[in-house]
Amino acid sequence: MFIAGNWKMNTNRKMACTLANGVLDKLDSVLNGAADKVEVAFCPPFVYLVDVAGLLPEGKAVYLGSQNVYFEDNGAFTGEMSTAMLKDVGCTLVLAGHSERRHVIGESDELINKKVRKSLADGLRVILCIGETLAERKANKTLDVNRRQVKAGLAGVTREQLANVVIAYEPVWAIGTGVTASPAQAQEVHAQVRSLVAGLYDTAAGDAMQIQYGGSVKPDNALELLGQPDIDGALVGGASLKVDDFLAIIAAGAKAAASKK
Ligand code: PEP
Repeated sequence: MFIAGNWKMNTNRKMACTLANGVLDKLDSVLNGAADKVEVAFCPPFVYLVDVAGLLPEGKAVYLGSQNVYFEDNGAFTGEMSTAMLKDVGCTLVLAGHSERRHVIGESDELINKKVRKSLADGLRVILCIGETLAERKANKTLDVNRRQVKAGLAGVTREQLANVVIAYEPVWAIGTGVTASPAQAQEVHAQVRSLVAGLYDTAAGDAMQIQYGGSVKPDNALELLGQPDIDGALVGGASLKVDDFLAIIAAGAKAAASKK
């Protein structure tokens, strides 16, 4: 079970530290003995990575993630950050293909794949985000879109590297909207994604793939979503900015994990 908080372009330096500390202070108590079954990540804005890195306890499954990365090592790429730079400040994780980067910033499948491959080659774990828009869902293209994004995102990724990949299914219509996919809708796509991965690699790869759900996950819907058989975690936006809400989602993850095999 993997619960990651994507803070997006929110917080300030003080709030970022207060937020991380607030979660860390109560983490052990909400994990309630399931610490070995739950991983947690914070993905703050770039400029606060160093501050948050300094707060993370050693020896716990709490990771620092970057919301973005570039695929070149260094050079004239104004505004971009390399994998080495991210690792240098304590990141072990990156997001790739978030819908805001696909649809607001305009990143292509090809660019996302370059980021995925470079990050994996340099030892970072990747959360590859996929998901259909409302228009695509209404046009019955949900499976086609997610298939295309998974295939393109994982192009050139080796079977060995796959262990460092997490897929986040985030229907675009559910992100930041307060509208959540129903547990049944989410489960359906998660099962499809798992068999897609199995088809691209092998059954064991499909079974082992961690697939997070993202899209208005809140304390009141987390347990039911995370209890679905093919949902292995959550990528959380808005609710990850509130200490108590994020802790409640982690607690739901711990409970769901304890009830799964
Ligand atoms: C996200 O940013 O990945 C996300 C799912 O946002 P929210 O939880 O706010 O819908």
